Amino acid sequence: MKFLIHTYGCQMNVRDSEAVEAMLLAAGHEKAVSEDDADAVIINSCTVRQKAEEKAIGKAGNMIASRKITGLMGCAVKRLGEDVFKRLPGLDFAVAPRAFGLIPKIVSSLESSVSRCAPRASGQEHGCSGEETLSPPPGTRNRRHATRILELGDDLVPGSMAAHCAGGFQAFVTVLLGCDNRCSYCIVPDVRGHEYSRPAKEIIAEIEALARHGVKEVTLLGQSVLRYGIRNDCGLPKTAEPFPFLLRQIAGIDGIERIRFTSAHPKGVTDELLQVWRDCPKVCRHLHLPVQSGSDRILAAMGRRYTRAEYLESVSRLRELDPEFAVTTDVIVGYPGETHDDFEQTRSLMQEAGFDNSFVFKYSPRPGTRSALLPDDVTTEEKERRNQTLLADQETRGLERNSRLVGTIREVLAEGTSKRNPERWSGRDGGNRIVVWDRRQGERGARLGEAVKIRIAQAHAQILIGEAAR
Ligand code: SAH
Ligand code: SF4
Repeated sequence: MKFLIHTYGCQMNVRDSEAVEAMLLAAGHEKAVSEDDADAVIINSCTVRQKAEEKAIGKAGNMIASRKITGLMGCAVKRLGEDVFKRLPGLDFAVAPRAFGLIPKIVSSLESSVSRCAPRASGQEHGCSGEETLSPPPGTRNRRHATRILELGDDLVPGSMAAHCAGGFQAFVTVLLGCDNRCSYCIVPDVRGHEYSRPAKEIIAEIEALARHGVKEVTLLGQSVLRYGIRNDCGLPKTAEPFPFLLRQIAGIDGIERIRFTSAHPKGVTDELLQVWRDCPKVCRHLHLPVQSGSDRILAAMGRRYTRAEYLESVSRLRELDPEFAVTTDVIVGYPGETHDDFEQTRSLMQEAGFDNSFVFKYSPRPGTRSALLPDDVTTEEKERRNQTLLADQETRGLERNSRLVGTIREVLAEGTSKRNPERWSGRDGGNRIVVWDRRQGERGARLGEAVKIRIAQAHAQILIGEAAR
């Protein structure tokens, strides 16, 4: 069967889609080159904000309308449960995040039921008349083979986490599934289940295999990744701080040149973690440290378990270690009851922290979360205004931060040709900053994954421009 996967949402979803792709390929299915070419389309959905969920559901609806075998995976499935089939009549299967390991079996069963049927003429439904049938409601398409498989697999740990190698020199590796933090606004714990740390042995074996396939840069994923090994035994020697220990082990793997991880909670920026950055040059000096708000009142309401002062203390410890340590963040604007003064505190915190980059989200009430019980009282226009203000601040600040790097030499891993200018290479430095530089005359072929020293000549808010240092 020819399949295509469309992914919405975070890096976790990207990683899950990669794993599903690898498993489907291993099961003998083929990757389609376009939607037209695909027999089956799988949508990996996000539900963290309502708009994100709507996008994924909308796409799945389009695929059903274009008569593809359509499957939905990811966070929206868990949130909607059985209702997913009401939202998407004609959907063939739906699989929650912790159950994605079951997808190859489902796709193969669909394939055999389709291939046992009469060949599909164009415009005709796929289906078998002799099999279990669900009569479609009047006015909907006549889909005879409606399988409707739903796998919610509550706390199931997806099989074959280690099954993939996307083929490039960069790879995501999930180390921690789920989340136990229960921030007041967040639906993630409901849809991704309890925190579970994968056994360290399994993670190390996966990264060793990736390194053998040419992977040089790994990004370790977890919702609150610094909590790795705290809730369940991950097989490391009993240590108070398993995550720094895991980092040191990964740094010892031959072939791995860069280690990144995301997301972090400020409480996890400990002496032991700071010592890893001092000792292991492979561990990139970049931390994505979502702050959400700069107002103590709102932070308390969100249940974030740190104050503004504690957060800023964590940032200054990183910058004491290295003034160019890149710190990026997530912020929510328009949380229930967020006043103008609360917002101004967020603005000033962002300036004090000197974020290298930030992602701003407009508050969206999610069913079942604690904050959904509060009035969503900041108007859409005001949320938008606050959003634009923070983005404009970030432009100015990003330019200031990046300008400090002009004249310095950064080590960059080449990721390919620049999208905007094919005469340039593009890559990232350890701080995850995008760097582009001119090809040398006569230079051919992008040296994917090669570490290059680039002298920075020009800075913009989101990008650095340089030249290969001789
Ligand atoms: N585990 C990560 C965040 C995962 S969700 C962490 O805590 O660091 C990614 C981001 O989406 C969050 O950091 C938050 O800024 C945003 N987000 C989560 N729920 C939201 C909601 N209900 N409305 C708006 N933004 C939200
Ligand atoms: Fe959501 Fe908070 Fe968990 Fe992040 S730490 S996934 S924001 S509950």
